[in-house]
Amino acid sequence: MENLRISEVRFGAGGVPDWLEPTVRFCSRCGGQLTFGPVDDEERDRLACPSCGFVCYVNPRLVVTTLPITDRGEVMLIRRGIAPGLNQWAQPGGFLEIDETVREAAIRETLEETGLHVEPMAIVGLYSRVQAAVVVVAFEARIVGGVPTITRESLETRPFAPHAIPWPEIAFETSVLALRDWVASVRPDLTLPDPSTVHRDFGA
Ligand SMILES: [Zn+2]
Repeated sequence: MENLRISEVRFGAGGVPDWLEPTVRFCSRCGGQLTFGPVDDEERDRLACPSCGFVCYVNPRLVVTTLPITDRGEVMLIRRGIAPGLNQWAQPGGFLEIDETVREAAIRETLEETGLHVEPMAIVGLYSRVQAAVVVVAFEARIVGGVPTITRESLETRPFAPHAIPWPEIAFETSVLALRDWVASVRPDLTLPDPSTVHRDFGA
């Protein structure tokens, strides 16, 4: 439940993170050039189209992830086969699609990336990463079927006990935070790493 490193976020002329700015230059309704500034009835500056009046709201997207837990109490992580975070470890997950619920996304993404069927259980945490314009939700999930599968997105899927999480090789800061919260809940006796010492800035 933390907002991460807001001081590091660079917001450009459009009021959005620098990397996002090239995608919000033109009006999606009429093609006109968007401008950033005061808009009637809005309490903050917005990107808007002077030609047709369309207001372009730019909001963070939801990334839905799971921590699939084995019968032995280990968490299944994937070694990522694609950037960002190539060759690093993370939990399975991805962007919520427009036509699915959060639970459906959790089940689908986990199956696609690991070959495992899961039943999402409690939410371990919800993590904002402002620079990446995402909010990551992490479910603890029960494995109910399937077999670990290698995919284009995952070079390897393997279980890690709470005391054996490969902290320096975790791809994302939000993954470190989710895994810390999970380990703290199942093994409160273990010493947890300081997130700032294992930070990997690959964008989420
Ligand atoms: Zn327009």
